[in-house]
Amino acid sequence: MYSTNMSSILQSGVRFRAYPDTGLASILARWIGCQRFIYNSKVSEDRLFAAQRRLELVWGNSEVKAPLDQAYAQFKDRELTPWLYEVPSQILRNGAVRWMNAKRRQLKKLGNAPRRRTRRDFNSVRVTGELFRFVQTAAGPVIQLGTKAEPVGRLPFKAHRPFGLPKSIVLREVAGQWFVSFCYEHESNVIARKPHELAYELNALDDATLARVTLGLDRNVADNCVATSAGEQLRFDPLTVKRMQRKEIGAKRYQRRMARSQNGSANRRKLVRRLARRLDYATRVRNDFAHRLTYRLVNSEARFFVLEDLKVGNMSRRPKAVKDERTGKWLRNRAKAKAGLNRKILASCWGRIDAFLRYKAGKKNKLVGKVPAQNSSRGCSRCGHIHADNRDARRFVCVRCGLTLHADHNAGINIKTLGIGALRDGAFFVEKPKKRIAFRRTDSIPTGGTPEVACGANISPDPRPAWVRQCATKQESCVARRRSIGL
Ligand SMILES: [Zn+2]
Repeated sequence: MYSTNMSSILQSGVRFRAYPDTGLASILARWIGCQRFIYNSKVSEDRLFAAQRRLELVWGNSEVKAPLDQAYAQFKDRELTPWLYEVPSQILRNGAVRWMNAKRRQLKKLGNAPRRRTRRDFNSVRVTGELFRFVQTAAGPVIQLGTKAEPVGRLPFKAHRPFGLPKSIVLREVAGQWFVSFCYEHESNVIARKPHELAYELNALDDATLARVTLGLDRNVADNCVATSAGEQLRFDPLTVKRMQRKEIGAKRYQRRMARSQNGSANRRKLVRRLARRLDYATRVRNDFAHRLTYRLVNSEARFFVLEDLKVGNMSRRPKAVKDERTGKWLRNRAKAKAGLNRKILASCWGRIDAFLRYKAGKKNKLVGKVPAQNSSRGCSRCGHIHADNRDARRFVCVRCGLTLHADHNAGINIKTLGIGALRDGAFFVEKPKKRIAFRRTDSIPTGGTPEVACGANISPDPRPAWVRQCATKQESCVARRRSIGL
């Protein structure tokens, strides 16, 4: 069993609003761009190497090097990328480090392969200890950016809560506002246990206790956002909903004005900023809601949370185009109505609630389980009768036993029952495999003979198949590296 003197490493952080002046903001924007460039170059390079590995499988050519490292010097070129020389090298290195972290997550099967990012989803820069220090001024602490020899500027920030000295900071721009985040790792006396271990512990409880500590959660699109099996309905504050609607109308107005504005004009830039602020409001409200909700849930007495396994990505997909086979004309596919529903699905922050609940519950050694979503809103939670007629809009009236409940409450109870059943059946006992083999070595592949079996690509007389050549030409940023490999 676990000894009591063990501890585990927890991560936490704080985020403060930062106020760079115009000059510093433009320098930081450049840092962000350069770090993103290195990240994206590593992504492209890795794809090229993956193609080479496949080539290696086919031709058994072990001279082709496909390293997995944080090198970034090959992307610096006096002619092609002179602007990379204008930022501190630590900024560039951290871009490679960020890519490596993402790649490690992929290899541990914790995430997808790192992909190319844009300003939309990579608008931050990680700055490590060499490039910042805290300076005490009359107005409070500020961050001095840059080295002692080459200072860049002072960044004031508003610390609304106490903070410790971090090893690295992340500077981020969101809709024209700057933020600085400090990340800490600290030891905790709570031993973080793995989900399958928690499942075993919960399974040891008797039926009555397990029912008491289990909470089914039904996530909804309609007016209320989350309903629990205990009959609670957790929803957005009506006032914020009203404000969100008003901001949406405001955003539409700015969009119309932007459509009439001139490309590249100062007026357009101003409108872009204002539009971004309007759109950002809803994001903040949803984040806030998901954080408050999950905080409340994990601090309740429940130890086992059951969610429906909703495939948000699949559910919010565009409907397929429908063609009349006879006439060849396109038919109505209700795409507009679906787009409206998709917006609602994404606006009810299902994914966020799932992700936040998972990490917060993990910190408290509580389990989050998922069960299939079928029939949870049509089945009766008392007699189990499944029929579409059971539903009467927001009410649930069982046609067999006459149970009357709020439809979402009934669905919550169904989800809870399914979760307990799945736990007793051992659905959560298996530890998810974390490691996998990224690629097979050449020695296990028959060389010569029938190479198609190994990779499935078409083999042409040219030693490099067309798709590899194509892939190689796309890598504008890897010129130097490719030359050194001789591909
Ligand atoms: Zn019934």
